Amino acid sequence: MMSFRTLDQADVAGKRVLVRVDLNVPVEGGKVTDATRIERSAATITELAHKGAKVILLSHFGRPKGRDPKDSLEPIAQAVGRLIHKPVAFAHDCVGKAAEDAVAAMKPGDILCLENTRYHKEEEKNDPAFVAALAKLGDIYVNDAFSVAHRAHASTEGIAHKLPAYAGRAMQDELEALEKALEAPQKPVIAIIGGAKISTKLELIENLIAKVDGLVIGGGMANTFLNAQGINVGKSLCERDMADTARRILQKAQDRKCAMILPIDAIVSYYFEANAPSHDYGLSAIPADGMILDVGPNSVERIKAVIDDAATVVWNGPLGAFELPPFDRATVAVARHAAERTRAGKLVSVAGGGDTVAALNHAHVAGDFTYVSTAGGAFLEWMEGKVLPGVEALRVQ
Ligand code: AMP
Repeated sequence: MMSFRTLDQADVAGKRVLVRVDLNVPVEGGKVTDATRIERSAATITELAHKGAKVILLSHFGRPKGRDPKDSLEPIAQAVGRLIHKPVAFAHDCVGKAAEDAVAAMKPGDILCLENTRYHKEEEKNDPAFVAALAKLGDIYVNDAFSVAHRAHASTEGIAHKLPAYAGRAMQDELEALEKALEAPQKPVIAIIGGAKISTKLELIENLIAKVDGLVIGGGMANTFLNAQGINVGKSLCERDMADTARRILQKAQDRKCAMILPIDAIVSYYFEANAPSHDYGLSAIPADGMILDVGPNSVERIKAVIDDAATVVWNGPLGAFELPPFDRATVAVARHAAERTRAGKLVSVAGGGDTVAALNHAHVAGDFTYVSTAGGAFLEWMEGKVLPGVEALRVQ
């Protein structure tokens, strides 16, 4: 069991609590276009304020080189206030006099957002003097930003060693879901991996083979495996130079008794565009000038059967070029099936990664999965079996 400190163990009343949130949300014309990340941290912020903490929000925003007004957190702090229906004050720096004065003026239950931590280059360097300047502002540190936990930055890692550190509610949810999915899953556990290329997901595939009972491969990367097995994939997206690697992975899976579930048929088109005419082909008959843009209906039935036999599924990557209908069919069908099994209480389903979240939203089933991680890079690094410094710092020793 992973063991980390949560808000249940923290005595926060009257304390200055520095809360690392992820306010790096998409903004267009000064307006937040997707508030998912703010919504996820709302529970932690309101719980702390309700318990009488002085809640001090810390976050980065964008990739500024120094102090750039276009990367100010001020409009986002206002968006946080609107979302949680409470006033959120703002300090024009995250360290030094502006921050110290703003913190000194706080009363229990107040919420203050500090300016973008990345206005200081020391943030990403995890610079000890900068860590100390941040730590000076609080009595307690709460990390609620799993999405940046793969970075050892001052506000995500360094500070956790200077102050008593706890996981916020969103971080806790994420860690508990991930543990249920891969660290201590109900078996059989399977993973579904799709997406464009195997070269970007090698570590992930290798780590999963060691942990899961079955690995479903779809998307462009399936073509690389098929090609490595001598199947003609025509003009499909395919990493021909990865054939040896693909064969080595298949061998490793066999050695580890991890079933590899590759497509058995394919949807082929001659154009990479929406609504292009397409047909289902058996693998021995892929036309030389055709492109595989989705896994075929027989493959979908097989994947559904594999899901029926599984107690846990972890998913990253679409099974086809899902942005271009009808090549979203397999992804949507499999997503709906996994959602149905989850609703029926038969499956623990955890999914993550930018395209995967988009695909599940497209299939209108994101809400039916046990957990959907919006963490992107951090989710992938966790799937790769890497140590996430921001999470390690919260672990009970
Ligand atoms: P990734 O970022 O590696 O998860 O890849 C996601 C991208 O892979 C999406 O934009 C899909 O459109 C693309 N993709 C999935 N299957 C295929 C395929 N058979 N051919 C071309 N692109 C694909």
